[in-house]
Amino acid sequence: MGYFKLSLLPPQCVCCGKTFLAHRSPGLKPKLKCDEAKLQESLCVYCLQGLQRYRRVACKTCGLGLGPRLQQFGWTHCRHCRQAEDLQLKTWVCADYEPPFDQWISSLKYGGAYEIAPFLAAWMSLRMRGPNGIQAHGLPWPDVWMAVPSHASKVKQRGYNQAALIAKSLSGLTGIPYVKGVLIKTSETFSQAELSREQRMLNLASAFVCRKQVNQNWVVGLVDDVMTTGSTLDLCTEALLKAGAKDVIRFAVCRTPE
Ligand SMILES: [Zn+2]
Ligand SMILES: [Zn+2]
Repeated sequence: MGYFKLSLLPPQCVCCGKTFLAHRSPGLKPKLKCDEAKLQESLCVYCLQGLQRYRRVACKTCGLGLGPRLQQFGWTHCRHCRQAEDLQLKTWVCADYEPPFDQWISSLKYGGAYEIAPFLAAWMSLRMRGPNGIQAHGLPWPDVWMAVPSHASKVKQRGYNQAALIAKSLSGLTGIPYVKGVLIKTSETFSQAELSREQRMLNLASAFVCRKQVNQNWVVGLVDDVMTTGSTLDLCTEALLKAGAKDVIRFAVCRTPE
């Protein structure tokens, strides 16, 4: 994998893998530590343009992408959430779990490419401020970032919790503090992919707890890499609200489409 590069070598595009000559918009200072600068140093100009053109409008409750027809009719929620009329949950998702985004996530999760995390955070942070950003969703900025926890054995095996890496980078880019060690995962769960929804819920129930009270004034920005059914985020949200959080907004890089 080409993510660990010497500064003497030309940078390699995170998206297409080609090396490219460093390029920057004239207005950006070279050492500027911002989301745009981070994206420019991670992507070739073609992939950068592709990312800038990427549009996605999502359900405000569950983060599922809304198709063009629903958008045309001005729907802000998917049909499931409209039917359920449970619009309390707040979710903001960056992209559908499809190429090239799924490849970035799997490099981060299974390829040891932890350098992808700041890049993903930069992209999220930029989109959060954009036309389909959190303001368009009627959401406030959170008071703190927290990450969906991994079990200690998983962190030991992988060397890191990818959601925590993303949350930490988001903190650096947004100036909103990252708080760790509050929400923890107590039991190891089986691989989610092989289980039905019922089995998954049973498997996850009581897996997430808060080990201390959460400040009652905090709107927590809860970060995960991929949202699949949302059951993990639901349980974490429940645990945080039970521990006193004022509200929870769930953030994910990707969500698996329906
Ligand atoms: Zn590229
Ligand atoms: Zn929905």
